[in-house]
Amino acid sequence: MANVLWFQGGACSGNTMSFLNAEEPTAVDLVTDFGIDVLWHPSLGMELGDAAKRLFHSCASGETPLDVFVFEGTVIRAPDGSGRYDMFADRPMTEWVTELCNQAGIVVAVGDCACWGGIPAMDPNPSDSIGLQFLKRENGGFLGADWRSKAGLPVINIPGCPAHPDWISQILVALAAGRTADIALDELQRPQTFFTSFTQTGCTRNQFFEYKQSTQSFGEGTRQGCLFYEFGCRGSMTRSSCNRILWNKQSSKTRAGMPCIGCTEPEFPFYDLVPGTVFKTQKVSGVIPKDLPEGVDQYTYIAHAAAARLAAPAWTKEDLFAV
Ligand code: SF4
Ligand code: SF4
Repeated sequence: MANVLWFQGGACSGNTMSFLNAEEPTAVDLVTDFGIDVLWHPSLGMELGDAAKRLFHSCASGETPLDVFVFEGTVIRAPDGSGRYDMFADRPMTEWVTELCNQAGIVVAVGDCACWGGIPAMDPNPSDSIGLQFLKRENGGFLGADWRSKAGLPVINIPGCPAHPDWISQILVALAAGRTADIALDELQRPQTFFTSFTQTGCTRNQFFEYKQSTQSFGEGTRQGCLFYEFGCRGSMTRSSCNRILWNKQSSKTRAGMPCIGCTEPEFPFYDLVPGTVFKTQKVSGVIPKDLPEGVDQYTYIAHAAAARLAAPAWTKEDLFAV
């Protein structure tokens, strides 16, 4: 049995919407089968007004023990470090976050904004937004690099824009079941079980990637060609399990003909969304992709690409899924 309190900072609620669509297990399963007691959640909380405030103060003071504190959205520090751009239950959210994180057994950051700032932290960052324990790739964030929860853990980061619903619900189950020690984290504090393989792992376009065959357009012929060469797909350099744990149990961006935009990495959104950089492969000298698959250098890429194109058999230009 574990109780969970979920707050939102500078957020679009996308991670809440994602979480409410979880299937393995569902949000309802968490309560009925896995013994999670949702103390309060912006969309599910039963308490309102003064009753909600009493509950929050009770958790923040330690009177009600808090097992898991989930935070969605950025920590907004503006203006001038006061945090007053984001007032919640009569106080700056920054004050709630500080007190609740220090009382919680475990703290979970859900979505890019809570993990490392996400889109709100892009220049010029007028809300002075920051992630709980990172700002982009830099460790520190709002709580500081050395901060640890009562259980002795750093913030567990479940990134994504939004995070896959089952990544969230499965981590909550592991925490509720007392299997925290089984959750190995990578250097960005992401659970390795979801963020070691690449988006490309399991992508149906891998054979086209190997032979350097590009798809021709979005949507049309979505099962033919790879989205890396012209459409900016970051699947070969993004750690996520989107093609292993499918969305809605049946698809993923790349399967649907949409490039992976690297939303589980701290640098997202890449190139600060400058016009012409989204869904378009950035190139050096108009030919070589600027961002290469992880671990590949430019010279190796050029040599491999030339050989692969020469070796490409006829079927790499066909739709292999045609009936
Ligand atoms: S680059 Fe993208 S579309 Fe191409 S194989 Fe990798 S994940 Fe799939
Ligand atoms: S496919 Fe890429 S951009 Fe889409 S959700 Fe997965 S990691 Fe994020």
